[in-house]
Amino acid sequence: MARYEWISSSPEETMAFAEELGHRLQSGDVLTLEGDLGAGKTTFTKGLGRGLGVKRTINSPTFTIIKEYVGRVPFYHMDVYRLEDSDEDLGFEEYFEGDGVCVVEWAHFIEEFLPKERLDLTIKYSDETRRTIILEAKSGHFAEICKEIIK
Ligand code: ADP
Ligand code: MG
Repeated sequence: MARYEWISSSPEETMAFAEELGHRLQSGDVLTLEGDLGAGKTTFTKGLGRGLGVKRTINSPTFTIIKEYVGRVPFYHMDVYRLEDSDEDLGFEEYFEGDGVCVVEWAHFIEEFLPKERLDLTIKYSDETRRTIILEAKSGHFAEICKEIIK
């Protein structure tokens, strides 16, 4: 497993960084996003969507759990916060093994369903406009991408 860190100084920088990541993602990729409320998980996801060619505006899916977007590949944005203390399975494995790219906010709530090969992202609040983004690549594919985007 390879670990990388990147510091963002604004929401725009976070989105631009995520967009670069999004450009490099491919069918079947799974990303997890952890971080406190307001850390920037959804902001990051908006940038990812751009990099994946999603034209629609991406908003927080808190009340729907899974939102699907059309990009150069299907893009599934999940926020499983509401599944805390529940072992409900909404068919996650089918999404993770499918042809889309999945990003899961609060992924530790559905740990048992996550694939082993994935990119784990943690966003840490430093101050009002600064965030530290930690990237843990759980496969060679993701380690390669991290090396490319962190120059
Ligand atoms: P989460 O989904 O983690 O709850 P959001 O992305 O919804 O967080 O909200 C993050 C908030 O923090 C937004 O209002 C955003 O504008 C602000 N923000 C300030 N600086 C940054 C930064 N460097 N990166 C991401 N968001 C930032
Ligand atoms: Mg959010």
